[in-house]
Amino acid sequence: MAQDIEIMIASVPEIGPEQKRVLFDVGLIQATVDAWGAAGVPLSRMVFPNYGCEWNHKHLPLPSMDRKAVPRLDLIGFPGGEDLEDVSLVDYAWIYHELGHILLRAHGEWFCNHFDSQINAFVKAQKLRALADSDLNKKRAESVLDRLLGFWSPGESAWSNEIACDIIALWTSGPAFLQAFLDTMDDREPDPYYLGESHPPYEVRAFALVEAAERLGWNGDIANIQDRIDAWRISPAAKARTNEYVTLTDADIVKSAVSSSIEFCRECGLEACDKDRLKAVEGLLQVDNALDFGPELVLAAWLLRGQDSVDSCQAWERKLVQALAGTVML
Ligand SMILES: [Zn+2]
Repeated sequence: MAQDIEIMIASVPEIGPEQKRVLFDVGLIQATVDAWGAAGVPLSRMVFPNYGCEWNHKHLPLPSMDRKAVPRLDLIGFPGGEDLEDVSLVDYAWIYHELGHILLRAHGEWFCNHFDSQINAFVKAQKLRALADSDLNKKRAESVLDRLLGFWSPGESAWSNEIACDIIALWTSGPAFLQAFLDTMDDREPDPYYLGESHPPYEVRAFALVEAAERLGWNGDIANIQDRIDAWRISPAAKARTNEYVTLTDADIVKSAVSSSIEFCRECGLEACDKDRLKAVEGLLQVDNALDFGPELVLAAWLLRGQDSVDSCQAWERKLVQALAGTVML
């Protein structure tokens, strides 16, 4: 434990007037923590950025005498280094996915219970269906269902939590997260059918996003992700879509995870990104210094990306990030 604490503490970057990127990232994290707290889901303020990695989230419970309120240190991994030029605002839609992990840890009981009952009902129905099978087939079906429960049963590193975090990011930052997700797939070129322990296959995440985006009114922004799913299906990688894969990633389970996630966002009172909000951000872009820390930043960057050259978008981002970093008090 002492060694873990030392490693985690050493990962917290120095925070001073010269560390502009750190100040900006701390400002954005704290603004979100405050906004979600005001909505009724208070979170710890011990959340810090960490650099030189992919987007990720790590946490460490700190020693405490109070069993009911164990303090935690949370680190959100940001790609790039501490240089302000490494900020890429559309990509920052991922921050809401990572903060989603902290939200689920603190307030995810409703989500866990809701999805748990659905996954158990699914497994029960599959077991009933296998009753007439031979003993050997029954055993095979049971072992696949055990594996399915291992992947999906709600918990900190369960597939359901990853889907929920993607949906939290979509709920909060709308089409900007769809773009950030596409950009990440372009960067990483992942095996779309890889059955990882802690993350569902990218095909499942993409399908969940398409489902959720349709339900949240972003039907016009899903074509690129749907095209990606279609292209994977006719690629050599698709040979990994065995019968077992299809059971483990059953579309009904994914749809249940999406429904539970959307309801969870509603239960938490998180402010949703919708068409009206996007219009409001368009208006803010016309006014000097109108943008403040919040999802409006990623939405504004996403809107400009579709209108301006790469160079002018970057120049706009640098100026904005620099100015906002300067407003963070130490
Ligand atoms: Zn995650």
